[in-house]
Amino acid sequence: MNQIAIVGAGIAGSLLAFQLIRQGKRVTIYQPEITQKICSQVAAGMLAPTSELEQGSEQVFQLGLRSIQLWPEIIETLKTETGQPLYCDLAGTLVISHSQDQASLKQFYNSLSHKLGKDTQSFCQSMLITEKESEINGFQHGYWLPHEAHINASLTLKALHEYIQQNGEWIATEANCIEPNKVDDRKYDWVFDCRGLQAKKDIAKMHGVRGERILLHAPDVHIRHMIRLMHPRYRLYIVPRPDNHFIVGATEIDSDDESPISVRSTLELLTAAYSVHKGFAEARIVDLSTQVRPATWDREPYIQSKTGLTRINGLYRHGYLLAPALLEQATRVLSSEHFVIETGAIS
Ligand SMILES: Cc1cc2nc3c(=O)[nH]c(=O)nc-3n(C[C@H](O)[C@H](O)[C@H](O)COP(=O)(O)OP(=O)(O)OC[C@H]3O[C@@H](n4cnc5c(N)ncnc54)[C@H](O)[C@@H]3O)c2cc1C
Repeated sequence: MNQIAIVGAGIAGSLLAFQLIRQGKRVTIYQPEITQKICSQVAAGMLAPTSELEQGSEQVFQLGLRSIQLWPEIIETLKTETGQPLYCDLAGTLVISHSQDQASLKQFYNSLSHKLGKDTQSFCQSMLITEKESEINGFQHGYWLPHEAHINASLTLKALHEYIQQNGEWIATEANCIEPNKVDDRKYDWVFDCRGLQAKKDIAKMHGVRGERILLHAPDVHIRHMIRLMHPRYRLYIVPRPDNHFIVGATEIDSDDESPISVRSTLELLTAAYSVHKGFAEARIVDLSTQVRPATWDREPYIQSKTGLTRINGLYRHGYLLAPALLEQATRVLSSEHFVIETGAIS
C-alpha cells in the first residue's frame, strides 16, 4: 500500500500528505492553484477542546486533547524541514464576561462542569483575570482553561504545502473523478477524499457554516493568552499572533454564502474587542475574511472508508483542533486487514 492519492490540500489533505510521506509512502495530492483563500487559510488556529466542549461532543473533546499532544512534534518537524517561523503556543485560554453578561459565563461553566464532572477543576479553573493578563481591566473574575493552545494556521498550511511540493507529487488541477483506487485516469493503492465542502454532492446532509474573522495589528495591546468573551448572542475570541497581531472572530451562520464580511459583523466584532482592551482603538485592520466551514448534519467529524477510498470531512470549526488525531484514525485503514467501514460520523 504505497502509492497514495489525496484530493484537496486544506488542513485535512495537507497534514495527511505530510504524515504519509514521513511514513515512506509515495503521495500524489490534487489541488488546483489557490486563488481565493480556502477555509483552512482563514482559521484562527485555536486548539481549544475545553471551550468547544461547552456546545460540542465528548468525541470532539477527546480527539482535540489527543491533537494537542501531537501538534508540538508536527510543528517542530515542519519548522526544521521548511525553516518557517512556526509555533504551537500552549498558553491556554481566559474566559471572561462583562458584568451584565455574568449569566453567560455561569452558563459556560455549568455546561462544562456537567460534562467534565470530577475533572472540571483540572480543565476549567476560577481565576482573577489580572493575574494572567494585567492589561485587561474592568473584568474581575473569569475562568482559566490551561489545556488549550494555538498555532498560526495559514503559516502552518503554507509550510505543509512547501513540504509536500518538495517531497511528494502535486497535481495542480481539480480532480473530476474520485473512485476507489482511482483519481481521473490514474490508479492508486488508496485514495483519500479531503475536498471539504466541495464533497457535498457525495456526502449526504453536508452543509456550510459561515465564519468571519478580522486580523488586527495592535501595537498598544500585549495580550498573551487566547481570550473568549461570553455574550448572550455570541462568543468572541481573540487569538494573539506574533508582533502584536490579533485574530478576532465569533460569528457563525448556517449558510454557504462566501460573500465579504457584513458591516454588522464587523461592528460587533470590533466593538467587542475594544470592550476587552481599549488599545484596539488604534489598531489597524490588516485583513477581513469570511469562509464556509464544511459541516455534517450533527457537526461531528466524518470518516468513511471502503476498500481503496476513504473520505475525511465534516471538520466544521475544528479542522486544526481535530486533524492530527482524526488522521491517526483514518490512516489505520492502510495497515489494517479489515477495512473500517463507517456510514456517518465516526462515533
Ligand atoms: C472564520 C473561521 C475560523 C476558524 N477557526 C478555527 C480554529 O481556530 N481552529 C480550528 O480547529 N478550526 C477553525 N476553523 C475551521 C477550519 O478552518 C476547518 O475545519 C478546516 O479548514 C476544514 O479543512 P478541510 O481540509 O476539511 O477543508 P478545506 O480547507 O476547505 O480544504 C479543502 C480543499 O480541497 C480542495 N478541493 C475541493 N475540491 C477539489 C477537487 N475536486 N480537486 C482538488 N482539490 C479540491 C479545495 O480547493 C480546498 O483547498 C475556522 C473556520 C473559519 C471559517
